[in-house]
Amino acid sequence: MIVMKFGGSSLESASAIERVASIVRAHLDQQPVVVVSAMGRTTDGLLAAAEHAARGNSYLAWKQLGELRNFHIQETRRLLRSQAQAFSEQSITPKFRELHMLLTGLAEGDRQLTPELKDEILSYGERLSSEIVAAAFHRLGINTAHLDARQFILTDNQFTHAAPLYWETYAKLRRTLPYLSERTVAVIGGFIGATEDGVTTTLGRGGSDLTASIVGAGICADEIQIWTDVDGMLTCDPRIMDGGHRVRTISYREAEEMARLGAKVLHPSTVAPAIRQRIPISIRNTRRPEIEGTQIVAKASGANGTVKSIACKKGMTVVHLDVHHVGGLPSITEGLGSLFARHNIAVELVQARQAGVSFTLENSLLLPELLRKVDPSVQVRVEEERAVIGLVGEGIGSTPGVTSRALVALKGIDVRMHAQGSSPSTLVFAVPESALATAVANLHREFFSAVDPELFVAARETAEVGAETARHAAFTLAANTRAVPAN
Ligand code: ADP
Ligand code: ASP
Ligand code: MG
Repeated sequence: MIVMKFGGSSLESASAIERVASIVRAHLDQQPVVVVSAMGRTTDGLLAAAEHAARGNSYLAWKQLGELRNFHIQETRRLLRSQAQAFSEQSITPKFRELHMLLTGLAEGDRQLTPELKDEILSYGERLSSEIVAAAFHRLGINTAHLDARQFILTDNQFTHAAPLYWETYAKLRRTLPYLSERTVAVIGGFIGATEDGVTTTLGRGGSDLTASIVGAGICADEIQIWTDVDGMLTCDPRIMDGGHRVRTISYREAEEMARLGAKVLHPSTVAPAIRQRIPISIRNTRRPEIEGTQIVAKASGANGTVKSIACKKGMTVVHLDVHHVGGLPSITEGLGSLFARHNIAVELVQARQAGVSFTLENSLLLPELLRKVDPSVQVRVEEERAVIGLVGEGIGSTPGVTSRALVALKGIDVRMHAQGSSPSTLVFAVPESALATAVANLHREFFSAVDPELFVAARETAEVGAETARHAAFTLAANTRAVPAN
């Protein structure tokens, strides 16, 4: 059995869903279980509608909800043709009616936008997409069963970033999926779960990747495939710089660090459930299925000390705390540590100095309140609009020369802090957000100008293969689509 997870961009339209069906069909002999995100940017749209309603702006809330409704109905019509009307009445319209009621309660001030209500509202994205994809597969001739993720993925009650109850979830998955998958392709919505009392939760933005790895670990899958809109893990974030190379293999640890340091292609918690059973994870491009993508495995190829990729995160704040009394530092860092943990704030780069400590954290609305809790004798300096850049590769933290090469490449850029990250596989730098693109380009030139073809596929080569693959994929899709009786 394998798990195939398709992200929002792979499900952004009827034709994208048809493409997904043809990819799944090509893997039927491996008994796939399919995990889907919400279609396109539905989650953002639901969030915007909820926020408009919570501010009392019902005009914008209804407008946003209307657009989402039309989008789902229109793409369903293209997918299901003559069966669309009945499906919409049974599946889509009731969900939008429920959403309308939830938003009315918010807009009229009867309810607050609590984390619990936010999860309830956002869950509709995956509830809709999973039913639509299952119906589309069925129409395209794939034997399909739809599963409600809330019946299988159990979580605690930390709404908006719930933690899975792994063992209970695995037990539920094991009881059902292996038997079901002998005959059918199970389709399950990612991102969402429920508490043991049945209250809907979400695993945090981008959480469908985590659902995929929980399902994979639950059924002891042979592989977890993350299908998305890029060729694999690239040597740099394509939103910051074009021309990154595809990394052929990375280790679990490298992938975890990439995700933690901002590589959105993978949710940071995705890798952990797979490690225990050493289930390989691959990142694949839905638009170029012939490209083998990036394999995430226990031991990746490449010598220790090789920089594999550059990750980055914008919207960071650098905080410097200066202490003036001896012995004050440990109690402050300890206090802050538990405060951040309680508020789920990730601290990236911590640098202890003789008279204080500096760290970076994601721009946090809670920051002023948190800093007030720091000992009043502590002097606090805050730098906003910073970015964090992480070089990732097994052993680079202890490999002579990597830091100095990076610092030379960053010459002329105001590097405020740099340190080995929380693991020996990262080197992390804080720079002004305005210098991020230049900093990434300089680092990329330094570490990836000439790459080992055993480890990386050069961007140029990928583009050439891509053009060929796109022609091939269009051909396969056309052939697949024609094979299905139109009804
Ligand atoms: P999906 O909707 O499939 O879950 P995401 O938008 O969550 O897709 O993740 C894919 C995106 O991750 C890519 O489009 C790319 O912009 C971003 N990304 C950031 N860093 C990297 C990287 N190093 N390699 C590949 N993609 C990256
Ligand atoms: N739909 C959710 C989001 O946009 C989960 C996911 O796509 O992984 O965050
Ligand atoms: Mg994602």
